[in-house]
Amino acid sequence: MATVHSPPVILIIVAISKFSEASVGYSYADTTVWPASFPVCAGQQQSPIDLLSNISSETTHEAFQFTHHTDSITENMTNTGHSLKIDVGHSVTISAGGLQVTYNIDQFHFHWGENSSVGSEHTIDSHHYPLELHVVAHNSSYSSFDDAKNHTDGLAVFGFLFEIQAANNSHLDSVMTHISDVHNLDDHHLVTFKLNDVIDSSKMTTYFRYHGSLTTPECYESVTWTVFDHTMGVSELQMEEFRSLYSDNGTTHLVNNFRPVQDLHGRTVHKYSYSASGAAGSYVNVYLRLSCILLTCMFFSKIYA
Ligand SMILES: [Zn+2]
Repeated sequence: MATVHSPPVILIIVAISKFSEASVGYSYADTTVWPASFPVCAGQQQSPIDLLSNISSETTHEAFQFTHHTDSITENMTNTGHSLKIDVGHSVTISAGGLQVTYNIDQFHFHWGENSSVGSEHTIDSHHYPLELHVVAHNSSYSSFDDAKNHTDGLAVFGFLFEIQAANNSHLDSVMTHISDVHNLDDHHLVTFKLNDVIDSSKMTTYFRYHGSLTTPECYESVTWTVFDHTMGVSELQMEEFRSLYSDNGTTHLVNNFRPVQDLHGRTVHKYSYSASGAAGSYVNVYLRLSCILLTCMFFSKIYA
């Protein structure tokens, strides 16, 4: 008898999942209407924001730490209709760099413009960049992104800004190779990459840090933001590949998928510059201590020889 009843149950589940997808529908055509459907988008801690380059930076001796970022990962790249998203799986973590906890990296995605005068979500001194990469992670104390997304300390997003350069950026090769396989909405394709090859960790030394939100509905205000001051490069040819994607089935190009900057509402933005000197000092300390132990051993081995 169970088989007689299961088809309606499946239909109900499909109907519910379709409804929940539809309920997070939004458009970049007019982002000011988002709060009508998603009230949190009108909050006081929204992202992106304009960053000011001349705020004084604090020195940090704590570099970002990764685990498994050099592992080869094979995961889906998806045209979500709002972005190009690449899943990262469940193994890569990021910590330190002034972060209070360890985060598990879930996915990365991009925001870009119809031409290279716009595209980034964050701006620096009101300057827009053609492309912004977001690496999205959740606090490892929570079981998943969904579990973490509406907790104040739940999420961390790392933003990398790009400037136009003549040569292609080989860091983007793993994305570019299969971009033509995901031209339409909901297209997906397996890609193989190492996160270490996609993000240029040499650029992760000076960064802005503030508390903000997801830049897409439901705009949860649960994000510890890190936006790097040093830009990465991207060629116009590579930008054209992003702009060749569609937000639907081959009718409307997926461009200008960025939210305008939001009011700070009195929030503090910090700027940090990493200096290895403190870390180098501690290496010298360890070296000296090991030398002392070695000399002591040699001394006693002479005595008791
Ligand atoms: Zn984003």
